[in-house]
Amino acid sequence: MTNKTESAIKVQKPNIQFNSLNIVEPILKALKEEGYSIPTPIQAESIPIVLQGTDLLGCAQTGTGKTAAFAIPILQLLGANRAYGKKRKIRSLIVTPTRELAIQIGESFKAYGRHTGLNYTVIFGGVNQNPQTTALRNGVDILVATPGRLLDLMNQGHLSLRDVEIFVLDEADRMLDMGFIHDVKKMIAVLPKKRQSLFFSATMPPEIVKLAGTILSNPEQVSVTPVSSTVDIIKQNIYFVDKGNKTSLLVDILKDSNIKTALVFTRTKHGADKVVKILIKHKIKAEAIHGNKAQNARQRALTNFKEQTTRVLVATDIAARGIDVDDLEYVINYEIPNIAETYVHRIGRTGRAGAEGTAFSFCDAEEKEYLKDIEKLISKNINIIEDHPFPLMDHNPVKAPKQVQGKRNPKTAAQKQTKQAAPRKTKSVKSASPKPTENKTRKKWFNKTKSTR
Ligand code: AMP
Repeated sequence: MTNKTESAIKVQKPNIQFNSLNIVEPILKALKEEGYSIPTPIQAESIPIVLQGTDLLGCAQTGTGKTAAFAIPILQLLGANRAYGKKRKIRSLIVTPTRELAIQIGESFKAYGRHTGLNYTVIFGGVNQNPQTTALRNGVDILVATPGRLLDLMNQGHLSLRDVEIFVLDEADRMLDMGFIHDVKKMIAVLPKKRQSLFFSATMPPEIVKLAGTILSNPEQVSVTPVSSTVDIIKQNIYFVDKGNKTSLLVDILKDSNIKTALVFTRTKHGADKVVKILIKHKIKAEAIHGNKAQNARQRALTNFKEQTTRVLVATDIAARGIDVDDLEYVINYEIPNIAETYVHRIGRTGRAGAEGTAFSFCDAEEKEYLKDIEKLISKNINIIEDHPFPLMDHNPVKAPKQVQGKRNPKTAAQKQTKQAAPRKTKSVKSASPKPTENKTRKKWFNKTKSTR
């Protein structure tokens, strides 16, 4: 069993080159053209395992080079025994939770496989199925799919999985989060029993380990970047700020012209749209990417962002999963995620492939609990930016009436307020009840925010 804990794509084993991994010439040539010289740790570990036909359990997240870790050996194995002259059959199936990830995996197969003669297609929901069914009818060697559309087209008889030799389940933990587990189980039930399976997940909670057990047989395990250490190369900063001042703070930060592009995370789709509106009002080019947007709009926003015609992309977590933008330097957490690991996934969009990365997180009084969880997970205190124009004033915000008045459990609101962490490096406010009078500074900032809306 191989079990590595190297921390980032930057960390390489000396001496290991792609050409010492028994990779065939057409793929080596493509890797050279892509500018890859040294395999990342997960590639160095996984490629030999997959090439020998063994099942693999990979604990790794996007940003570690995991796509190439499975795509390279798959291309090599399929290329080694191609049946020429016959209609192509789906010999490898890669299932991934989001459309963006599917598209990116497809692009990787296209890049690394360009001299192999193998072909691939990508299928996902939210778009017309006809181009996808036409591609399937013409025959494909490698199919990259999201679970819903895969089952849909399979049920309509447009594809069969009976010839799959190598199956990849990507981002399994996110699959579970997104409620795809039943689709995944249905799909596994129709895969040939005799196959090679590769299973990737950023985290390994018990349900994932159980699921892996039903898919893999005698797997080798490769583990890189334990979730808490990926963040080491990213400069992380916290701004304590009142909820109502977050947009003003964002606009203020974006005055810095050194920030060429920034990926901003909001918790909700509505929140993403709202932030975009305000940025546009301030003449900052921004677009939103989330599940309510049509696939074409999402793809267009992503392309504009990659080409830097759009400076700020505002995304929800699910939509952002797998966004791979070269040289993305700034990630801004407009809201602190309530699941600590989500923070790591978010900031992992920057600092990729060893690049520089900076993360700013806006934390209001109610989010301090989440921040504590994050710091526990990453085992360090995040740097606090104290000197900024919108310091947190309201340490005990009044809850929205809807929550405070909850009849079923009248204690909840008060309990929640007393639970709030004492502000760090700022004046501690002991009272659980809201302050009777706001101080002047707060009012001033509040008015300022209002006027920018
Ligand atoms: P992934 O984790 O597969 O999403 O890959 C993250 C990023 O690293 C992508 O932009 C890849 O193109 C890039 N990448 C993957 N492998 C290598 C490598 N060996 N050398 C340089 N860049 C790489």
